[in-house]
Amino acid sequence: MSGSLFVISAPSGAGKTSLVHALLATNPQIDLSVSYTTRAPRKGEVDGVAYHFVSRETFIEMSGRGEFLESAEVYGNFYGTSQNWIAQENAKDRDILLEIDWQGAQQVRQQFAECVSIFILPPSIAALEQRLTGRGTDHSDVIKQRMAAASNDVAHVAEFDYVIINDNLNEALKEFNAIVLAARLRGTKQLARHQNLINQLQNPE
Ligand code: 5GP
Repeated sequence: MSGSLFVISAPSGAGKTSLVHALLATNPQIDLSVSYTTRAPRKGEVDGVAYHFVSRETFIEMSGRGEFLESAEVYGNFYGTSQNWIAQENAKDRDILLEIDWQGAQQVRQQFAECVSIFILPPSIAALEQRLTGRGTDHSDVIKQRMAAASNDVAHVAEFDYVIINDNLNEALKEFNAIVLAARLRGTKQLARHQNLINQLQNPE
């Protein structure tokens, strides 16, 4: 497979979603995985776009059938990545982006050692709190729960290949793009992509 597999994790409120959308807008060769979740849709979230929203019963059945590449319980809800979708993308040699938590990242690393994992941090605890409050989509008890969960998430930062501090969106995007470009230029990926050229250069006759 010549495509790259990117795994992005962050504590809730690190600005991961805006950064990922900016990255996708400038990198049409990257496809974002749409996860399955048992969480209720937030205002404006469309089924099949933000997530595939399913019941706990359906999720457990899918999990039992081995339909998830990875899955985890986050804040009391189940989340999982479609195994089938990843297989289809790999066959097309597309770059793949998974926006998942650290538990999922651990599972993906075990299966795809060559995946590129990136952790996004907010620039300060105050910024994190402000972003969680400013979003206005969750109740204050949920925000408190997520502030507490953020410290648990950050405890896993050292497991990731790259760390981006998301203070300024443009700067963070530049750093993100640099990681994407470096991954694309890895020797193993370039060998798979340019096999004909390499053959010709080795056998000029
Ligand atoms: P939210 O409900 O705020 O959209 O996401 C909550 C957390 O679940 C985030 O950390 C997000 O990255 C994570 N998440 C979303 N989809 C998946 C998934 O498919 N697998 C795992 N392991 N985590 C996910």
